[in-house]
Amino acid sequence: MDPVERLATLDALQQEAAGCTRCRLAEGRTQVVFGVGDPNADLMFVGEAPGFHEDKQGYPFVGQAGKLLDKLLAGIGLERADVYIANVIKCRPPGNRDPVPDEIEACEPYLFRQIELIEPRVIATLGNFATKLLSGRQLGITRVHGQPQSVTLGGRQVLLYPLYHPAAALYTPRMLTVLEEDFARLPGLLDLESHEPAEPEPEPELAAATPAEQLGLF
Ligand code: SF4
Repeated sequence: MDPVERLATLDALQQEAAGCTRCRLAEGRTQVVFGVGDPNADLMFVGEAPGFHEDKQGYPFVGQAGKLLDKLLAGIGLERADVYIANVIKCRPPGNRDPVPDEIEACEPYLFRQIELIEPRVIATLGNFATKLLSGRQLGITRVHGQPQSVTLGGRQVLLYPLYHPAAALYTPRMLTVLEEDFARLPGLLDLESHEPAEPEPEPELAAATPAEQLGLF
């Protein structure tokens, strides 16, 4: 698909999503938060769901977590216009509660179609929900952060790179340090991907989920 056709198709998908009532989250939203950035981006970020500010402004990551994401991007010489940013869920869950499985199931076709159209080489998943959905595995983010893995999405091999969610890192200095370290590896991964296809990472050791993971926090 050429860039013009790609942009037109993405716009049409955004228009379709704007009136979506596939799940209960349509009732409480101000607007659908579809995604923002370069439709031809090599690097895509996928977070969880819009919060209060995102719901009001219509863009993902515009609150404090968004400011941190901007800072992390600047640290590797990028800005928002260079990447594409979206969420698993396009409408704000009431009170910022976690999305529930039937809401994810209803909304995920939009994300999968976005990935298919944008064709990123690297997808950085922010937090548990995006990581589990796009990896197809139930391993929590504390176990898999910073470990690139090759997955098939939208009919293509993509390098999935799980990161802590900036909102969680805002209040936990140790997590912020890890997020900064993981983030610093992104340019190398993008460079690697431009030269050779991704090799699958070995399966992380399966172990029982921690209580925090069971709660969906990490
Ligand atoms: S969350 Fe997704 S599926 Fe649910 S109403 Fe919003 S756009 Fe539609």
